[in-house]
Amino acid sequence: MKFKNKTVVITGASRGIGKAIALAMAREGANIAINYYLSDEMAQQTVSEIKQIGTNVISCKCDVADQNQVKNFFSKVISSFQKIDILINNAGIVHDKPLMFMNEEEWEHVININLKGAFLCLKAAVKEMVKNKYGRIVNISSDAGLTGDLMRASYAASKAGIIGLTKSAARELSPFGITVNAVAPGFVETAITQKIEKSRREKIIKTIPMQRFATPQEIAEAVLFLASDDAQYITGEILIVDGGMYTR
Ligand code: NAP
Repeated sequence: MKFKNKTVVITGASRGIGKAIALAMAREGANIAINYYLSDEMAQQTVSEIKQIGTNVISCKCDVADQNQVKNFFSKVISSFQKIDILINNAGIVHDKPLMFMNEEEWEHVININLKGAFLCLKAAVKEMVKNKYGRIVNISSDAGLTGDLMRASYAASKAGIIGLTKSAARELSPFGITVNAVAPGFVETAITQKIEKSRREKIIKTIPMQRFATPQEIAEAVLFLASDDAQYITGEILIVDGGMYTR
């Protein structure tokens, strides 16, 4: 088991990619701390599936964009598991709107959850990781952060920001035994992409060499690799997992 005795914090794990990462980490023996904000029932479901796997788990309802709530969340993790080895910054939202109609509040809502939230969680986790001179941080970015996206300027900007955060944190934290990487998925079968209407979906699929969206499990596999000691000499890397859609 690759993550036995490791403590993993995963934000936004009530469903979708975060849930797939939490389950995959649990199958590899990790102690799991999941976070979510609104979906109580789905978070409970994730917790009970992790318990069935037979590993330790806690869940915490907390808005990753709120510094005090984040502090409480990480205190709860430390009182349950005494350390943090791995952080997966996954929580994220989209808000589809043409740029010229987007107001300041809508812009900030996306940036605050997707980018500030990742910064706040990273800061709280690093405080613990430096004590053990060990840490693995994987941030979830997006192809949109590399290419931009129609109607999703705030989302694309937040995901480009995640790339800058990842590369900067990698430089700063290497001396403390902490690696920081990102995974940039293309289109993944989750609640976010369920809203895409059929004709647009068909057009998108034509642009993906593999001709399908990813499963959440396929993204989880890439995250687990970067969080494992198999990737111990990799830091500041952005791993694109998109079926060949993005060409550099
Ligand atoms: P999802 O199914 O909508 O799940 C999003 C998760 O984030 C939920 O658990 C949600 O919990 C949580 N969340 C939202 N706001 C939060 C907040 N303020 N504080 C804490 N948690 C919050 O989305 P997904 O598709 O799995 O996406 C996961 C990540 O992958 C996101 O960062 C997304 O941008 C990225 N991504 C997704 C795709 C894709 O095609 N799906 C592609 C590229 C990148 P609650 O419901 O409880 O609030």
